[in-house]
Amino acid sequence: MLRPRIVWLLLLVACWCSACASAQKTVSDGASAPATSGSSETSEKSDAPTAFPPPPTVTPTGEKCSELVLETRASRTEILRGVQPTVSMAEAIAVFAGVGIFASLIAYGFHMVRKHIYNDADNLDTTFDAGGKVSIGLTATTIVSQWTWSATLLQSSTVSSLYGISGPYWYAGGATIQIILFAVLSIQLKTRAPGAKTFLQVIHARFGPRTHQVYCVFAFLTNLVVMMSLTIAGTAVLNSLVADLSPEMAAMMLAIVIGGYTLIGGLGATFYVSYFNTALIFIMILMLVVEVYYNPADNPNNPFGSSERIFDFVECWKAPPGNKDGSYLTFLSQGGFIFGIVNIVGNFGTVFCDQAYWQSSVAAKPLQGVWGFILGGLTWFAIPFCLATTLGLSYLAMSSAQGVAMLSDKDVAKGLVAPMVAQTLLGRTGEYAMLFLILMAVMSTGSAEIIAVASIVIYDVYQIYLKPFRAELAPGECILCGHRVRPTNEDPKRCMCPSMQRCEPCRQDDAARAAVDSLVKPHYTCSVHGQFREYQERLLYYKNWSIVWTTFFSIPLCIFCWAVDLDLAWTYYFTGILISSAVVPIALSILWVRVSSRGMIGGAVGGCVCGITSWLVYASTYPGGLANFVVNTGHQTPMLIGNIVSVTVGGLVCIAVSLADNWRMTPEQMEHEWEKTRDIDNPLTPWVHVYRDCLDISEARNVSYHERPPIDGIVRRFRLAKRTAYGAGVCLTLLFVVIWTSSMIAAHPLDSAGFLAWTTLSRGWGFVAATFIIVVPLLQELYAIGHKWRKQQLVRSSPSDCLSLQSQCTSPTHSRADSAEVLAAENGAAPTENGTRKLPAE
Ligand SMILES: [Zn+2]
Ligand SMILES: [Zn+2]
Repeated sequence: MLRPRIVWLLLLVACWCSACASAQKTVSDGASAPATSGSSETSEKSDAPTAFPPPPTVTPTGEKCSELVLETRASRTEILRGVQPTVSMAEAIAVFAGVGIFASLIAYGFHMVRKHIYNDADNLDTTFDAGGKVSIGLTATTIVSQWTWSATLLQSSTVSSLYGISGPYWYAGGATIQIILFAVLSIQLKTRAPGAKTFLQVIHARFGPRTHQVYCVFAFLTNLVVMMSLTIAGTAVLNSLVADLSPEMAAMMLAIVIGGYTLIGGLGATFYVSYFNTALIFIMILMLVVEVYYNPADNPNNPFGSSERIFDFVECWKAPPGNKDGSYLTFLSQGGFIFGIVNIVGNFGTVFCDQAYWQSSVAAKPLQGVWGFILGGLTWFAIPFCLATTLGLSYLAMSSAQGVAMLSDKDVAKGLVAPMVAQTLLGRTGEYAMLFLILMAVMSTGSAEIIAVASIVIYDVYQIYLKPFRAELAPGECILCGHRVRPTNEDPKRCMCPSMQRCEPCRQDDAARAAVDSLVKPHYTCSVHGQFREYQERLLYYKNWSIVWTTFFSIPLCIFCWAVDLDLAWTYYFTGILISSAVVPIALSILWVRVSSRGMIGGAVGGCVCGITSWLVYASTYPGGLANFVVNTGHQTPMLIGNIVSVTVGGLVCIAVSLADNWRMTPEQMEHEWEKTRDIDNPLTPWVHVYRDCLDISEARNVSYHERPPIDGIVRRFRLAKRTAYGAGVCLTLLFVVIWTSSMIAAHPLDSAGFLAWTTLSRGWGFVAATFIIVVPLLQELYAIGHKWRKQQLVRSSPSDCLSLQSQCTSPTHSRADSAEVLAAENGAAPTENGTRKLPAE
């Protein structure tokens, strides 16, 4: 537990020293410094406007441009091209250190709250799922901050500058529906595999090791691609804004900030840090929105200040072919539409195959998870929609104002539209806002990814393949004693292991260990649970190491991306081709009883191979073929074809093969299939205990940890949550993909009033979402802590109560379950949470 932290500290100091040294070196080298900044080649201030084609003087509809536009263009004094790296290295390091220290303090505060208020045990599951009791507000916050990649901030503004108003919409809508639909998977996971910590455990339980290995590869690939996209975007922005910063340095600094606080707090801390991240992201976005649309300080560099002025400038700027009538103010954009499709497909991959989202689902209570995902999705929608509508259109308007595009095509592809606008309109403040935004995004997504990788390594690689606790454990056998949980005729010996919560030797162990202050604790002596508890402790130790290694792995990864010159857009499009073939099979593994092992493998591998083949074949038809790899494979059409082939072949093969394998299934077989996933459990903190109050199980019933309510009862209990998830998923998907887009197509092209309505909607959504995400989680958490604290005071003031509450005073699991009661009480409005309905008897 301690050693990785010390090593971490040493490495941090070493990196810091090398950072300062290299910064000094590049500064002293002066002119001989290598061209470290990606934007340096285009960072020029030209005094010769004649070098660029003259700007149009009429709008697409043939009207003359407004006077304001023509005047502004005539009176320009200089032409801006490229982002200027003006933040000094020392300032950047100060910002990094400030954010790092702030995050660490919050992580530490969270640790203290859990330890002293909730009496959490420092065990393996707590570090991964924060006790499995996270409230709606915090679940929503975590999802928003995890789903806010650095790419979200950059790529959304990029597509806005390329395709006009449809870009931000496609980005936002095309990535919100997956989050909302994930609510369905979340509730099904809680119904059918409540003890699972990773989605891969479900696949292992149902389909065995071969299928499991294939999907482990897909899961790791997803984490890899997300990390790549994250660091590419992060370093691109850091490099464009910070002078004399090499990409290697940028990657290292990002890795230090992410890893440092992930290690301190586990997933739990990320819940609190996510809150501050999300709040800050929204505040920065609203700051940019206010500057662009209201110009409150009468900034002379800001030619806008109202929606009408932006409209005038954008209207008089010609869009590339593909947009109808060359207008940016239309939904009839071919590029925007293709981007929309690719975005939808690719994001299904990055949500469904990414353990990070399953982790959020595991960490939340069943109902809370469903609402957390729905509200998280709707809140997240505001970030790209509001930010990119503001920044992307400002970029177009500013380019129109000077008559020349502000960035080269290469810089646009890198995602520099947003920093360009922030720097031009807000100067220093804008640069810092951009640095903070990127840092926040990289930190929260990065740590979520690292924890996802660490949990796959621990739960799915180490525990299953490297060093399982019990090597030859057949399905349905108790991991503690090796006997069958449900005795059969061949093996009548039945597991009689008691629950740890009622085990006297374990209680003595806990007391003995609590009495020792040193870091070396006495061994566990309980004959039933002792060895397994030691094993779990070792896992916790390995978890810390795998976090350290995963973080450091991201440094060479980022340098590799830089070296082969991958850009953000390419990576973004390619993601779907690589992983989306696994989307339908993964969803079906928890939704559909007939899926077979062959269907799972065939779908994922077949879809991926077909997707990559079709993508490469189409790309090779461009001039230069595959020799000109990054350019030709990066075209929109091959990417579109690859994405669609991958997801559809993956789904169809999986369904067809599964139907062929499992056409006939008896009700007993079906029930047996879900019993396999319900067997996934940790005997020390069985799910029956964790969700005791949600399931309304009386204490006396579960003497052995294997005793659990029948699945029909749980299905009935979660019926409302399931209907909510399906209803919201279907309705909102229809709204975002069909209804909204078709009504916008009808409004082609937007006039000034339509444009005002459109930007007002984006601003309004931003303000409402910001209010929700800043106020609700804070209130919920404060209420929960206050409630818990009052309860503690009550117990302390009258010790006799403690006898009756003895289990709660001694057992960490019970106090965790107790905190659930607090949360349940505050969400008492939900009918399934009010504790009055009983499950039907077994
Ligand atoms: Zn047993
Ligand atoms: Zn015991």
